[in-house]
Amino acid sequence: MLLGFKTQLRVNKQQRLLLAQHAGVARHAWNQGLTLCQQVIIHNKTNPEDKIKFPTAIDLHKWLVASIKSTYSWYYEVSKCPPQYALRQLSDAFKAFFQKNKGFRKFKKKGRHDSFTLDGAIHIDHRKVKVPVIGWLKTYENLPFGYQPKSVTISRQADKWFISWKIEVNPLPCGREDINETNESQNCVGVDLGINHLATLSTGEIFDGVKSYNRYEKKLARMQYLSRDQELGSNNYRKSQIKIARLHQKIANIRKDTLHKITTYLSKNHAVIGIEDLNVSGMLANGKLAKAIADMGFYEFRRQLEYKTKLYGSKLVVVDRFYPSSKTCSNCGEKKLYLSLSERIFKCEYCNFECDRDLNAARNLKQQAESGCVTVSVRPTFARQRLD
Ligand SMILES: [Zn+2]
Repeated sequence: MLLGFKTQLRVNKQQRLLLAQHAGVARHAWNQGLTLCQQVIIHNKTNPEDKIKFPTAIDLHKWLVASIKSTYSWYYEVSKCPPQYALRQLSDAFKAFFQKNKGFRKFKKKGRHDSFTLDGAIHIDHRKVKVPVIGWLKTYENLPFGYQPKSVTISRQADKWFISWKIEVNPLPCGREDINETNESQNCVGVDLGINHLATLSTGEIFDGVKSYNRYEKKLARMQYLSRDQELGSNNYRKSQIKIARLHQKIANIRKDTLHKITTYLSKNHAVIGIEDLNVSGMLANGKLAKAIADMGFYEFRRQLEYKTKLYGSKLVVVDRFYPSSKTCSNCGEKKLYLSLSERIFKCEYCNFECDRDLNAARNLKQQAESGCVTVSVRPTFARQRLD
């Protein structure tokens, strides 16, 4: 299974400039190459007796080195890869255009679909990638380990930069022989998402999302309150609006960071993960839980789990939303008719089992996930793969 991996880069001012420079050179090479190819097409149309061979990627590159790079010295300020790859992509685009009558390639405009490709010595650490010429680039999330890509593509969307590469993932066919029975049950985990704790695992582990940015939320509320008195459109108003926006961004980043940590931990260390299919849209429409749920990023949580379980070769089981995970006793399976939201401890009248409410739900989700999946895929081995 070939998987594309893409993640946002955490760049500083200097790197931002360097990335833009690389994308600029790739764009220039593409546009120059496209001009040349168009001239060849026009020539061959108007002079059918004196046809010129259509340039290959190698021809284009030779021509670029000979006549373009010598004119534009700033080509030497960046890696030699971006123009090479740009011309290769241009050549591929023309091949597709001639063979399959695909759309004609367009000139690239500054700031639109800016991207470039680099190859060579690429190193991946937990949260950073080292690429030739540019050096170490930080990321916001942990990167898949055990695999060094041959090339990476860096692209811009609005003012954000992303890095992507391809990974060959070989999930072993249902790992019955690879996982023994005891291991298998340990490898299955249920996760209850909640308001008190962001995530409670069936193992008893608890992850909190809110506390880390509580401090900033209070500050934000205060700033928003103070900005009410300021005259609309005044300098001070504008300044405080910028400050508020920055704080919003900061809070969002902390939140996302926490989610990434949890989802990476879950998908890396467990073969099967059971979560509840929360009817989030219903809950959002439904009153006071809305803010808390939106804050916790349940959508984002599930989205991350979905791609990370693929990436790390684990399996995500989404338990039916009508399954009563909170009301069922995880010890004997007896179902309560009624359980109020304020009851933090689950007490079973049938078997006298007592347990934290969220933990009880997580244990139920684990059991559901276990029974719901007979096959278990184990962590992948990353195979080397050529990237062109
Ligand atoms: Zn019970």
